[in-house]
Amino acid sequence: MTEPTPQSGPPEQRRSGFQIGRVFGFPLRLSGSWLLMALVITFWYGEVIGERLDLHGAARFLAGLGFVACLLLSVLLHELGHAVTARRHGIGVKGITLDLLGGYTEFEHDSPRAGVEFTTAIAGPVVSALVGVGSVVAAVLLPDGTVADQIAFQLAVCNLIVAVYNALPGWPLDGGRALRALVWAVRGDRDAGLLVAGWSGRVVAVATAVIAALLYGTGWYTWWGLLFGLFVAYSIWQGAAGAVLTARVRRRYPLVDPVALAKPLYAVPAGTSLAEADRRAEAEGRAACLLGVTDPDGRLIALVVPDAAAAVPPARRPWVTVETVARGIAAVARIPASARGADVIKLLRGDPAAPYLVVDGEDVVGVLTAMDVVQVLDPATLKAAPAKQTGI
Ligand SMILES: [Zn+2]
Repeated sequence: MTEPTPQSGPPEQRRSGFQIGRVFGFPLRLSGSWLLMALVITFWYGEVIGERLDLHGAARFLAGLGFVACLLLSVLLHELGHAVTARRHGIGVKGITLDLLGGYTEFEHDSPRAGVEFTTAIAGPVVSALVGVGSVVAAVLLPDGTVADQIAFQLAVCNLIVAVYNALPGWPLDGGRALRALVWAVRGDRDAGLLVAGWSGRVVAVATAVIAALLYGTGWYTWWGLLFGLFVAYSIWQGAAGAVLTARVRRRYPLVDPVALAKPLYAVPAGTSLAEADRRAEAEGRAACLLGVTDPDGRLIALVVPDAAAAVPPARRPWVTVETVARGIAAVARIPASARGADVIKLLRGDPAAPYLVVDGEDVVGVLTAMDVVQVLDPATLKAAPAKQTGI
């Protein structure tokens, strides 16, 4: 019922459980947590229906099992609502997983347009509402006092609650995705939509916890109900917080300009001592530059590794040459000066600890490290970022 931020968000490895087959071509997985939940519901509902219809022993267990099977089917139909709609709009579906809180559908990529996002999001709650109404009709038509009638009634309640609750406009609920789509359509900014939906998700999470506490306080909920309500609230809070963070980081992607962020190079010939290189850079007002090493023809052959150079004590610096604390240029990856935002981040992910050469054709523009980019993207350093935007 809730979906993870698609691939554009932070890496979110939710895939768990085991595949039990395919439905309409979509891989279907059951998580271990769902099996646990199924067991609890089987016994709980077996007790409930047993009391109502005076069932005993295996009959209670079978009635509980029948209800769980119907519940599983309704959750599957909800997820199929999302999956089929996404496929109709050309969005690949990695699979459907049924878990503790119902289930989720994983997509190959984000929706291309706000309209597609909206339709895919609301398809799930719409299916749940239809199943709920169908169950109401079944409960009315089936003879009173039968197991089928009781199960139809319970299914109607569950599906209508799922339809309404999932339609609440807070990420990561379906309604939250629909809200993102609406803000995206109005503002023309997908990430602004995610930010609004994330904040709204936090409100939904707090409201869920408060309502669960109130229902417990007034005797409607047992403490099991309270625990479940708080667990749902916590899961929604986590998803909403992730969305807010993702939105903030992604809105800063345009600031990731390798030319502006790269530290300039100050090159000295091989054989120069660290102390002499520092002195020359200082004298020319280039102390903030990264040191490069050139061959006798003036070609760049290595980059001084800043941490290695800093580790050389002052007394040794006149005797240690730059190339002994440098990394050969062949081992340094390159980032084109024209790359921007997500493309730069993708390249830096190759080796986050290494320095990268920013190149414009054959010309070296400067040196970039993952840390330079993190300082721009990390919301904790928002205030420091505008200064970095102008380069050092
Ligand atoms: Zn859903």
